[in-house]
Amino acid sequence: MTKRQTCYNCAMDGTMYAQVAIEQVPGQLFTYAAPGGLGVRVGQCVTVPWRRVYRRGYVVALAAECPYAPRRREAEQEELFGGAPAKGVKAIEAVEDPLPYFSEKTIALLRWMAAYYDVGFTLALRSALPAPVREGRSQARERFVVAPILPPPPRLPPLSKRQKALYEDIVRVDGGLLARLCEEFKTTPATIRRLAAMGYVSCERLEAPRNPLAGRRILPSRPLPLTPSQARALEAILAADRPTLLFGVTGSGKTEVYMQAIAKTLEEGRGAVVLVPEISLTPQTVSRFAARFGGQVAVLHSALSDGERHDEWHRIRRGQARVVVGPRSAVFAPVPSLGLIIVDEEHDTGYKQDESPRYSARDVAVMRAHLEGARCVLGSATPSLESWRNATELGKYALARLPERVGGAALPAVSLIDLRQAAAPGQPLPLFSPPLIDALRLRLERGEQAILFLNRRGYAPTYQCAACGEPLRCPRCAPARLTYHAKDDTLRCHLCGHWERPPTRCPACGAPLFKPLGAGTQRVEQALAKILPQARVIRMDADSTGRRHSHDELLAAFRAKEADVLLGTQMIAKGLDFPNVTLVGILSADRSLNIAYDFRAAERTFQLIAQVSGRAGRGVLPGEVVVQTLQPEHPAVAAACACDYERFAADELALRRAQNLPPYARLATLTFTGEDPAAVERAAREAAHALGRFPGLEVAPPLPAPLERKEDRWRWQLLIKAATAQRIARACHAAIPQERRLGPGPRALLDVDAVFLA
Ligand code: ADP
Ligand code: ZN
Repeated sequence: MTKRQTCYNCAMDGTMYAQVAIEQVPGQLFTYAAPGGLGVRVGQCVTVPWRRVYRRGYVVALAAECPYAPRRREAEQEELFGGAPAKGVKAIEAVEDPLPYFSEKTIALLRWMAAYYDVGFTLALRSALPAPVREGRSQARERFVVAPILPPPPRLPPLSKRQKALYEDIVRVDGGLLARLCEEFKTTPATIRRLAAMGYVSCERLEAPRNPLAGRRILPSRPLPLTPSQARALEAILAADRPTLLFGVTGSGKTEVYMQAIAKTLEEGRGAVVLVPEISLTPQTVSRFAARFGGQVAVLHSALSDGERHDEWHRIRRGQARVVVGPRSAVFAPVPSLGLIIVDEEHDTGYKQDESPRYSARDVAVMRAHLEGARCVLGSATPSLESWRNATELGKYALARLPERVGGAALPAVSLIDLRQAAAPGQPLPLFSPPLIDALRLRLERGEQAILFLNRRGYAPTYQCAACGEPLRCPRCAPARLTYHAKDDTLRCHLCGHWERPPTRCPACGAPLFKPLGAGTQRVEQALAKILPQARVIRMDADSTGRRHSHDELLAAFRAKEADVLLGTQMIAKGLDFPNVTLVGILSADRSLNIAYDFRAAERTFQLIAQVSGRAGRGVLPGEVVVQTLQPEHPAVAAACACDYERFAADELALRRAQNLPPYARLATLTFTGEDPAAVERAAREAAHALGRFPGLEVAPPLPAPLERKEDRWRWQLLIKAATAQRIARACHAAIPQERRLGPGPRALLDVDAVFLA
């Protein structure tokens, strides 16, 4: 609590008091005087003196009264104002741009987010700004164009001799770029600006934003006549007074519905945000929106250059691009007058940020739509069980269905292959079962294409001693094994990036021989080259797509039929639409099924099989899916192969309800990490004890996290359940001391609505 004191600034005329968040100084908000002449408004980016330097800050609240005056009124203000410097209040130095960076609604959203996820407000605000915008980079490209106003309007102030000469020069060359005119006529920008202020010339900023869509030829598209179910879905979305869950099978034309909802929103004079999973932010997705909405589309994507991201963000803020397509963080895009938020593939785990603040962009989208009075659409062929329950049992969301593929294309036929039966007696399991090989061969003969999916990169996920059987492990993480990469003969940890050369002798027993076990994409590529040497294969995984464009380039090559087979990890599971693909092979469907600590394992497996299968038979040619598995009888595998989401959801929800697991309870993880394992354990036990006093919380005894050690830090974890997320956040806010969040000892990381349980 700050001491109440009277502030000498209160006597100043027209002065307001601003609460300012300074990004580099989280955990606190600062009070500054806002002199009347500056025209300070909420949401603006300002420069403030802080200690002995100037920093950029953001105005999050304004009050007419100095917070140090004895009369502080609103309870809200009590909460926001505080932690100010003890000796009086300094004044804001300058306003960076009169047009705010944040609307009041966005600030309200960030305050909600800070409370919901129990993070500081400044941290929440930080996540809403792309780094190049925060750092104010790349103003350099801003250029001005000067044009003479002809004929000069009557009754302008008279010009001096030199001004007259300059004006005549500008008329003679018919204006031009400010910088060029200054150079040509040996004058300064201020002199020309003065002419502009007097009314003789105009001087306007030339927007030359670096446009990520530039250089792409995009044919304009027109709205398609909707199928009856699309029309019903669109109507439902437009009429809904709450978010709409658009449950549509793959290829059912959800995107067309999104685009027509966007068109309607634009007609109403409002803007739209479309969230897509980062890995499906391919040129293909983006061009579909660009083809319909042209220059109104802005893309926010981490693969853009800093300059591009900076320019796109400001283009959005100024209302010049009213349709924003982007991943998770685009949920904060500064679209003025937002009318629609779409979350495509709403079940995708990529919407959950796995660093603080650990927000779910889907949930933030629902909240933002609520605060802005905007429509909200969550679309998926395999909705998350949270959303499904909201739309069915609870009625919090409206439900719209697209049960068939457009044009009556059939969903692909799925065959389940039991890999155990495909193995010869005494032999290891094969990578390719005979039916999959036959199906691939058939595609090659017919000139069609195939997609092969394996959720594991590298050559072999285990590299073990041939004598004692000990696998090689990461020295910094546990229980992580090192993956063998044949290409550069390295062992790599996929968690922390550690790599080493394979040792010559086993560190455990000294034997000199190792064998690579299991298969990653590199090994599959090699095996495929032996089985079908004529097949042209493109491999797509984190190792093959390092550079900025290679992801796009590989997909473009596959689209141009420069390859027969696209082999990849989850990178290829979503959003791709290749009409010539008639076969999808899932090499090992149950990889994610047996993760004991993750109660969502079955849900993930179902989603993955259904999504990957959805890539087949999207054109006129019928599709086929071959799923290789060790557990053909598992309900999630069986339901996915039958394309029966509703059956799967009903069964799985019954299990969750019985075990009081999400979506029936809210779950958070509280993870303690640190270099000293004993201190980490102690911190976890202390927290469990402290949390035990809060009613309505179910706190499991602390345990070493499933990922016990990561990047040299030991990890202990508590699982916390409650009926509401607020209850968990409030309890942790009260129970976890501040130094556990930032201090040098063990750190506490709270993850409300945790998705990654490791
Ligand atoms: P989803 O997003 O549900 O997977 P898409 O929006 O990609 O489905 O649609 C699948 C295909 O159907 C696309 O090629 C799209 O152009 C086409 N399509 C969608 N709606 C219509 C329509 N009303 N009439 C004709 N073709 C359509
Ligand atoms: Zn590691």
